[in-house]
Amino acid sequence: MSIRGAVKAVLRPVYYRLPAEICYGRYYSPTLDLLRRTEGWDEDRLAEHQSEKLRVMLKHAARNVPYYRTLFRRIGFDPERVRDAADLRALPLLDKETVRDNLDDFLAENIKPRDRFYFTTGGTLGKPLGIYNLRHSGGREKAVMFTQWARVGFSPDQLRALLRGWTVGNRRHWKYDVSERAYVFSNFHMTAENVAAYCRVMRAKRLPFLHSYPSAVIDFARHLKDLNLDPPRFRAILASSENLYPGQREFIESFYGARLFSWYGHSEDLILAGECEVGNHYHVFSEYGVAEVIKEDGSAACEEDEMGELVGTTLDNFAMPLIRYRTGDWAKIGPPSCGCGRKYRLLKEARGRWHQEMLVGRLENLISVTALNVHNDAFDRTRQIQFYQREKGKVEIRIKRSPDYTDRDSRRILQALKEKMGDTMEITLSFTDDIPLSPRGKFRLVVQELDVPRIDFERAEPGKA
Ligand SMILES: [Zn+2]
Repeated sequence: MSIRGAVKAVLRPVYYRLPAEICYGRYYSPTLDLLRRTEGWDEDRLAEHQSEKLRVMLKHAARNVPYYRTLFRRIGFDPERVRDAADLRALPLLDKETVRDNLDDFLAENIKPRDRFYFTTGGTLGKPLGIYNLRHSGGREKAVMFTQWARVGFSPDQLRALLRGWTVGNRRHWKYDVSERAYVFSNFHMTAENVAAYCRVMRAKRLPFLHSYPSAVIDFARHLKDLNLDPPRFRAILASSENLYPGQREFIESFYGARLFSWYGHSEDLILAGECEVGNHYHVFSEYGVAEVIKEDGSAACEEDEMGELVGTTLDNFAMPLIRYRTGDWAKIGPPSCGCGRKYRLLKEARGRWHQEMLVGRLENLISVTALNVHNDAFDRTRQIQFYQREKGKVEIRIKRSPDYTDRDSRRILQALKEKMGDTMEITLSFTDDIPLSPRGKFRLVVQELDVPRIDFERAEPGKA
């Protein structure tokens, strides 16, 4: 360890005891202040604020980012003439492959290397994407998170139980983390013994919030049920929207007797949208990024219940601006207003990465796993299931059985799935005691090894379904 590293290690616990305004960096407090003000703004004011930030970002991209300098010149796009977010539609959509293949061209020339940091986004199919963001941008992220969690009673001085994709390098598999101000529990080690210990710690420390993934929250509940233990009493469960399937919310809320607060976000940091105190629709933070929902025909979804791919544009990442970036995630347009009175745009559902949700049938037909409703009672005596596909028209259902699982359950599961998938899919069942988590500690309902065809917006003609 370098001298600097050693000093940092010693000072870390002291440093993170400083007030949040200091230790979360220069963007934290201004972001909190901004969100406190904008929360009461009407649609026009929010849109005006967003357009102003967008113009600044586009001008910056035109001046300092080689990729956009070339693109804007080629298609005759003038950032000075942008009036609002709808004007973005003059620009083409940007996909992950283009970013990966031209990474250096996306870096702003006026941002010094020491003022940015590099990270990789949640890799799907083993192909993570590297992204740069401004140093200290994590503080802005924290401020937005804390603002939405405040809707269910959270304040930054309160402790959380973190059960999400962190490995804890000790024998008891949990620790206190000073920078997160949270007790971190490894969800890679949820054995009966460890779960009982986690539960004891959560109770003893009276941790008011559980911050996790829906799948981990459910797994934890299953173990507690088996152990005949009452769940710790949480004020709310904070769980990002990824992999929230029908039936899971109801189960979680009734088992824990607490509100499940969910939000949509992704590691590229372009779109963030969270629920509120009165409902389950995602309120899109217009201060954070520009969110578009693009239908299969390439036009923007605007009517309630219309569905499309989430396309995001940064308003804050000056180090590596992504403009009209295809997230690969899908959402449905929500109702025009919410009872909480906030004027943010609402989304009804925001689903995880497209290909993670889809199976490919014999006729290249796509079958959404969400539509298979695996929370049907045919699955009652399973602990966990996972769809595994390697070949078109064939799927393996990996099942972790409950002790009372019998052949009859297998027949019922096959019947339920065949009814849904018809004869375009050959279904086999396999049994396992261990369904491994992804490297980030997430449970994956679908492991898809095929390249699921993506909708090609550029080739689609506007106006046609
Ligand atoms: Zn609301």
